[in-house]
Amino acid sequence: MTLQENIAAIEDKIAEACAKSGRSRGDITLIAVTKTVPAWQIGESISLGIQHIGESKIQEAERKLPDIKGISSVKKHLIGHLQTNKAKKAVELFDVIQSLDSERLAEEINKQAQKLNKVQECLVELKVSEEESKFGLDPSKLIDFLNLIRVFGGIRVTGVMVMAPFFEDPEKTRPYFKRVKKSFDEAKETNPGLKELSMGMSNDFDIAVEEGATMVRIGTAIFKGSN
Ligand SMILES: *Cc1c(COP(=O)(O)O)cnc(C)c1O
Repeated sequence: MTLQENIAAIEDKIAEACAKSGRSRGDITLIAVTKTVPAWQIGESISLGIQHIGESKIQEAERKLPDIKGISSVKKHLIGHLQTNKAKKAVELFDVIQSLDSERLAEEINKQAQKLNKVQECLVELKVSEEESKFGLDPSKLIDFLNLIRVFGGIRVTGVMVMAPFFEDPEKTRPYFKRVKKSFDEAKETNPGLKELSMGMSNDFDIAVEEGATMVRIGTAIFKGSN
């Protein structure tokens, strides 16, 4: 499979999920997850129409970004866990930080953004899985958290991000996506700036789209087998 064929197959699947759930393709942002993908290949994906990329690690992004052809035309998302001591770099490198998950991190992002005269766009990462390895805020704490950081002039929260647990059968992720959509809708009532619901990866993005995702983060299904 070529990169182009992989992307076309994903587009077909997104279109199908949109049709099934009465949504339109224009409501969904495709983020190509480029962790471990070499710069030249990320450049190739950009030449094929990719407009958003997602990286997991600050160090890897810092090293690769300058070498990516066409990078200035894409929006860069940090999707991996962010340590407070790397907030400065994250604010320098990324258009969107999708992994905001604590008050302490919010304080640091706010401080660093204000130093750069930047308003940092962030998504709040929610945790819906019991797996130890997953970061994120408990969905029941979302509204309080948003209230708490509302005063931070260096941060604009535009949505919520979540990783569902992995299942062989993607259908099993559906209840997790439904739960997050419900928290998102509840929070939206008092936080009209919430627009983005970032959920769905290679294995389950069609289910996520059916359940209301506005951003899907896809790595393996785009880059696998294409080099
Ligand atoms: C790696 C990663 C993805 C993409 O996963 P794939 O299964 O390769 O599509 C999406 N979101 C996050 C947070 C990731 O770390």
